[in-house]
Formats: sequence, structure tokens, C-alpha cells
Amino acid sequence: MINNLCLLSVLIMNKMKHICNDCGKCCQKTEMLLSERDIRLIEEKILNITRYEFTQLNEKGIYQLKNKDNHCVFLDIKSKLCNIYKIRPQGCRFYPTIYDNEKKICIYDEECPRISQFYLSHKKFKKTCNNIKKFIKRDLKIEIT
Ligand code: SF4
Ligand code: SF4
Repeated sequence: MINNLCLLSVLIMNKMKHICNDCGKCCQKTEMLLSERDIRLIEEKILNITRYEFTQLNEKGIYQLKNKDNHCVFLDIKSKLCNIYKIRPQGCRFYPTIYDNEKKICIYDEECPRISQFYLSHKKFKKTCNNIKKFIKRDLKIEIT
């Protein structure tokens, strides 16, 4: 029997699939940064996988998702869906809300063609933004003002 959590997860996935319409654009040429917690969760949950198969260090020495054939290694190219949806990295969960490091504000990523479908209420946007900043400082250990 399907439990409530599974049901919720299926409902969310169906909702996302509907909104995203199998676009997968955000998973092309990804530069998604990864925290140690993101990496460990994937290593724990996927049998026999090591971080070297799905991460690479960027020029600042921070782990980010690895690409294969110009898309994230976890993207199913046929369905354009994430193969690790339930354990996807935190940054993928926040998306398309992102932190603009130059302007020092949270924004919706204009690369997402369905951005308006993801608009949050002012209150939720503020909360998400606070969580993103917390994640960047605490988990990615990047200083932001
Ligand atoms: S780019 Fe936007 S619409 Fe496309 S899969 Fe990502 S979040 Fe969904
Ligand atoms: S982990 Fe999943 S959601 Fe995140 S970039 Fe890769 S395929 Fe996309």
C-alpha cells in the first residue's frame, strides 16, 4: 500500500511534470553547486556510486554536478526527467528561485521557460530566499552579504 509520503511525492512529481512539460532545460550544462550533504545523500542512496562519477570541482574548489553530453549526469535524456528526483540536490529543489550574486538578491531564473508557473507569494518567496542564503552560507560555505 502506498504511504502518504510516497503519495505526496508522486503528486508533486506529477505536478512538476505538468508544469515543466518535460522541458529539462535547467538540467542542461548544469553548474549546480553541491553541498557535502547533497553528495553524501546521493552516495548513500545509490548503490556503488562514488562522488567522482557525478561531481566535479569548479575553479573555486566547490563541488558541482557533472555533465555528460552537455547535460547533468542524472538527467534521463529521453523523458527529460531527473533520475534522482527524490534525492536531488538542494539547489535543484530551490530552482527556479536562485541567488544572484552580483545583485545580491534572490530572483527567478529567466532561463526557465515556464518561470511564471513557479511564482511564489511574497511571503513564500521571502522564506525561500532566506533558506537559499542559509544554504549558501552554511552548507556551501560561501560568504555572501
Ligand atoms: S527549466 Fe523550468 S520548466 Fe524546464 S524543467 Fe527546469 S524548472 Fe521545469
Ligand atoms: S540532479 Fe536532477 S534536477 Fe538536478 S540538474 Fe541533475 S537532472 Fe536536473
